[in-house]
Amino acid sequence: MAEKVIVIADWITVGELAETLNIPVTTLVGELFKNGIVATINQRIDFETAQIIVDELGIDVEIQKKAVESVGRTVHQLSDKAVPRPPIVAVMGHVDHGKTSLLDAILNMKTVEGEAGGITQHISAYQTTRGDRTITLLDTPGHEAFAALRQHGAALTDVVIIVVAADDGVKPQTVEAIRFARSANAKIVVAINKIDKEAANPQLVKTQLATEYDLNPEEWGGDTVMVEVSAKTGQNLDKLLDMVLLVADLEELKADIDVPAEGLVIESHMEQGRGSVVGLLVEQGELKPGHFMVAGTAYGKVRTLLDFQGKPLRSAGPSTPITVTGFKELPQFGDEFVIVKSEKEARQMTEKARIEREKAAASTNVTGADLLKMMTQQRESQEFNVIVKADVQGSLTSVIDSLRLVDTGGEVTLRVIGSGVGAISENDIRLAADGNTIIYGFNVELPPAVKRLAMRDKVQVRLFKVIYELLDDARQSMEQLLAPEVVETEMGTLTIKGVFRTLKDVVIAGGEVTSGKVMPNVLARVKRGDEQLAEVEVTSVQRQQQEAKEVFEGELCGLSLKTDKKLLLEEGDKLEFFTRELVNRTL
Ligand code: GDP
Repeated sequence: MAEKVIVIADWITVGELAETLNIPVTTLVGELFKNGIVATINQRIDFETAQIIVDELGIDVEIQKKAVESVGRTVHQLSDKAVPRPPIVAVMGHVDHGKTSLLDAILNMKTVEGEAGGITQHISAYQTTRGDRTITLLDTPGHEAFAALRQHGAALTDVVIIVVAADDGVKPQTVEAIRFARSANAKIVVAINKIDKEAANPQLVKTQLATEYDLNPEEWGGDTVMVEVSAKTGQNLDKLLDMVLLVADLEELKADIDVPAEGLVIESHMEQGRGSVVGLLVEQGELKPGHFMVAGTAYGKVRTLLDFQGKPLRSAGPSTPITVTGFKELPQFGDEFVIVKSEKEARQMTEKARIEREKAAASTNVTGADLLKMMTQQRESQEFNVIVKADVQGSLTSVIDSLRLVDTGGEVTLRVIGSGVGAISENDIRLAADGNTIIYGFNVELPPAVKRLAMRDKVQVRLFKVIYELLDDARQSMEQLLAPEVVETEMGTLTIKGVFRTLKDVVIAGGEVTSGKVMPNVLARVKRGDEQLAEVEVTSVQRQQQEAKEVFEGELCGLSLKTDKKLLLEEGDKLEFFTRELVNRTL
């Protein structure tokens, strides 16, 4: 534990850090410079960089990151004309606990998404009704989408249904879901699923949640709604929805509809014949065909407006998940969209957004990852180049983000040299052909003509439908690039008692094993006092004129030593026996 702890937000300027550490700014600038960063007193460095530099300087200070404030929902200033809106409910939980089954049962349909191993990367949104009430349901089919929702959709979520299998209990992704709900300031409703199973133990789930996660069931006097359900038999699903509505009602959820529509991009991909197909969730206002929409650096005019089942809509109000066509290019998953008056205004806004993104990308602020990368490059790093193609923008972002996490900042640096949405193209092959580049395709195809080109140019294309498998492959490929590690294992020591013969490259000598053991085919360091004279190979070991497999501490033995130059051993010299192996390293 460091003596002193400094708490900083995401970054600190060089000047401030020097002052806090009570060292001259020049010392800090000098240390940064040694690590390849040319910094001025006002330059910001992030907290990881700060910690690395402090460690390098040998200062015993621990730098802690200030706890991030909860994401919270963006609260719009509502007018007095605001009207009630449906709650937006995210269904989350550990894999295989029954999220998909529960949604299927609630929506009373087979979910349209084809899931590959339970991992898809965008948010799917649906609506269901209960009496005259509507509920918007967000599905985060895989872990990656879950992470994406945390990043982009926290502001949207009113209620989180946490699905816990009654026969399995609280698991890591359950805990993640609880954390998400809390950081997003969303209400929690627990669905204890699979109660039809014999091994179901809902009481145990409740005890776990109450004692470890401070979620106390109402029936025990707490304030967390927990409903025991079965997605399989349909038991208590109506009760679950009633409870969700009840919990949501306490929030008095409202939105304005007389304002320009705005919301979030939750999915985006290209489709032949339709162009850009973009999933949106409206937060405020009403979106209609013909509106000019802007999302990040993309804009367009709403051409078709469809509900979550693909039926055309005349308008879409707050909390409605929709699909639109008409964006001229693909907006990014997680971008906010707004409506503007004219195409001209839309163009101006996207231009501004583009400049801002470029500026942000070129910003001189140094991050810990940059620093680690620079340090690594100084150690002659290996580069692992990849091109990533994926079916939809959301998947692409997730795959790239996850790949960057595999890049542990070690000796192998992962570089994404190209990426895009859609099938693998001849262009990708050309880009990969002049280097050591692997093309990863996630949920995309490799057209036969492109495959032939790849084979001709010896470009490796690897297709995956499950993100974990893709990441495992990348990790293994990176491990292969690591130089194997040399591992030396000490075996024993011996003191020379007599030298019998000295030839050009062989010495025959005898001695006493003083610790451990000696055996043929090990290596030995020859030492006289502290000085190392040579490194030799033990070719044979003899005990009482007999070849021996092993000779242990306290025993006398004769040794045949192979040397690469003439070695004049003396009585009293010491041998340290060891083995040396090359071990493949793992990240
Ligand atoms: P997800 O990974 O959370 O989306 O889980 P799934 O919905 O894919 O369900 C995982 C497995 O549990 C599937 O084999 C389902 O048939 C099964 N399952 C889901 N809900 C229930 C339930 O209420 N009862 C029983 N017996 N099995 C269920």
